[in-house]
Amino acid sequence: MNMLNRTHLKSRGGIPYFENPEIKKLGWVTHGFLTRQGGLSLPPYDSLNVSFSNGDEKKTVVSNRDRITEAFGYDRNRLVLLKQIQLDGILILKDQADANPTPLKYDAIITDIPNQFLGIRTADCIPIFVVDRKKKAVAAIHAGRQGTGLQITKKTLKKMKEELGCSERDLLITLGPSIGPCCYEIDEKVFLKEWEPFSIDKGMGKWMVDLARINMAQLEEEGIKEDQICRVDLCTRCRHDLFFSYRGEGRTGRQLSFIGRI
Ligand SMILES: [Zn+2]
Repeated sequence: MNMLNRTHLKSRGGIPYFENPEIKKLGWVTHGFLTRQGGLSLPPYDSLNVSFSNGDEKKTVVSNRDRITEAFGYDRNRLVLLKQIQLDGILILKDQADANPTPLKYDAIITDIPNQFLGIRTADCIPIFVVDRKKKAVAAIHAGRQGTGLQITKKTLKKMKEELGCSERDLLITLGPSIGPCCYEIDEKVFLKEWEPFSIDKGMGKWMVDLARINMAQLEEEGIKEDQICRVDLCTRCRHDLFFSYRGEGRTGRQLSFIGRI
């Protein structure tokens, strides 16, 4: 597994980002896991907030999104953002028109259309990208506690296989920054038995959970090998200099992760 840390942070047009070097090498994909840095929003949304729904100024959020699409060289209208609802709905975008009826109440999106960028907004949940090197398809997944419990990552891979004919050996997977097991405490009422191997029992009905490892176990069940996985190994709550964290800050912004075929 390729692990990325703070030293792998790059910058383009004033926007810091992480990228999977294996995906970059393909030459036909543009992607980035962005941080909170490089935007115009004021505290507590400082500074590259891409969400309208937390109380930030609308025009500032629009400017932030424009900064991103300009820096990475694509049209702002080519970026599809889901109305993430913490479930396991997966959209296959077959036609550009499918992106128009908003809000798109899904937590994962798959496409093989060129010049169509898929964005996931997070502040602790994991953004996950899948690239099929042969079929030239890409997917973006939003995996929080609930989506992970519903096995959204596993279901997305299954859908890519069933509907696009993807083969697990052609896939490259990248997990973006998320809240780590150092900081992610959950109550036993919402804890799932199958998470035990990836969690620490704190007693008093509390568990420290490793969301990334649970999602990696789902990948493994779909035939993904460790050398196909790349991971940004930074905790969004520990690194509040770099990331928005809902657990750490409550009222805060959302960082964008995006991917698309050029
Ligand atoms: Zn942490």
